[in-house]
Amino acid sequence: MNARKSLKVNGKGHLEIGGADCAELAKQFGTPLYVLDEAHIRAMMRIYRDTLEREYGNGIVLYASKAFSCTAIYAIAKQENIGVDVVSGGELFTAMKAGFPAERIFMHGNNKLPNEIAYALDCKVGTIVVDAYSEADLIDDEAQKRGMIQDVLLRINPGVEAHTHAYIQTAKTDSKFGFSISDGTAEKMTEYLLSKKNLRMRGYHCHIGSQIFEKQSFVLAVEKSLKFISEMKDSLEFEADTLNLGGGFGIWYNDEDVKTDLDGYADSLRTLLDAVKTGCAHYGLQLPRIALEPGRSIVGEAGITLYTVGAIKNIPNVKKYIAVDGGMFDNPRYCLYQAKYTAVLANRANETPCEYVSVAGKCCESGDLIGVNMNLPEARTGDVLAVLSTGAYNYSMASNYNRNLIPPVVLVKNGKAEYIVRPQTYEDLTRNDIIPEYLK
Ligand SMILES: *Cc1c(COP(=O)(O)O)cnc(C)c1O
Repeated sequence: MNARKSLKVNGKGHLEIGGADCAELAKQFGTPLYVLDEAHIRAMMRIYRDTLEREYGNGIVLYASKAFSCTAIYAIAKQENIGVDVVSGGELFTAMKAGFPAERIFMHGNNKLPNEIAYALDCKVGTIVVDAYSEADLIDDEAQKRGMIQDVLLRINPGVEAHTHAYIQTAKTDSKFGFSISDGTAEKMTEYLLSKKNLRMRGYHCHIGSQIFEKQSFVLAVEKSLKFISEMKDSLEFEADTLNLGGGFGIWYNDEDVKTDLDGYADSLRTLLDAVKTGCAHYGLQLPRIALEPGRSIVGEAGITLYTVGAIKNIPNVKKYIAVDGGMFDNPRYCLYQAKYTAVLANRANETPCEYVSVAGKCCESGDLIGVNMNLPEARTGDVLAVLSTGAYNYSMASNYNRNLIPPVVLVKNGKAEYIVRPQTYEDLTRNDIIPEYLK
């Protein structure tokens, strides 16, 4: 099933996640429902943390919380003694609310708002990754007001194209993210940051893309970044002491993807760390502190979404649609970039798939699909459909489109499930609505 074998078919022929029967979960909590396997999340956090510690020593793993953010995930990251990165005031607030230690928070964003920067400084976040001149000015001003020196990194663009879907690449020269090494803007910006009295320039950050299986693309980004660090040492007498290599490790969604077990992730990380050591030796650099920001690979395969099959529409000689009680409001990734998933009938998981169907959502958009060509046994109304590998970028991208309720999230541990995000209610939908007097 998935790469980690946390999904199984049990004796009743039902899909099981982390020891919990998915048909039972659907009954107990209703559908649509996001389900996350805690053991899987912890195992992923640990493999990155322990490999970095063992193979390199001076480093920090940051869970990229945009992949899935709610208070419980920060509580888990805190217990696992790793850091997190946040990309908005809202993610930062959620982390703080969970009691996450601020010094282990890195803050990202290509357009951090003035109030987000002020809030980050009030929280005393460990590091801010700068991505604009105006931002450097703002952080410096706010730090000065508070009598602080803020640690910063500069987001650079090493110009490495990771081989993955074009829409989810961020490091091409034409990108809203980062300062390019090749056109000299990264050097100018380094100089600018060094001139700021209330900023402590620590080094660089790069993130070359997402859902990457090609280790060589990470190695290339490491090589280019170290070459740049060496050039800055020569030209500006600034030797970076931190290099943040971003996230991007790929996960299994369907059989076009590689299934990577824990050793596989450790192996990729080792390759990357070897490249750091080799590059530093080559350029005569001190080994920098290495930060990594895996998001998708920590939570992605740990999660599934359970739906109930509703309307079934067979268009003769065209295709068959199976409609579920969710859709683009809980998983917009097919609509955004034709993301592919694997689906299973959770209550008949031992039956052999026999047809290819499109799984449709319930939104008023013809593009509202969860997937096309999904291979399933003949589904019947009332079946529980599980879509696999939905732990990352599903709940975090969910919306109330069509005023559908964002599904709750349960965390499974040793076969027992508990809410970590409660169900929304219709009242929640109108909580902030106001009818102005003149409309009454
Ligand atoms: C999205 C993002 C990540 C996480 O990427 P994954 O593919 O989920 O591992 C890490 N760092 C930055 C800056 C990002 O934008």
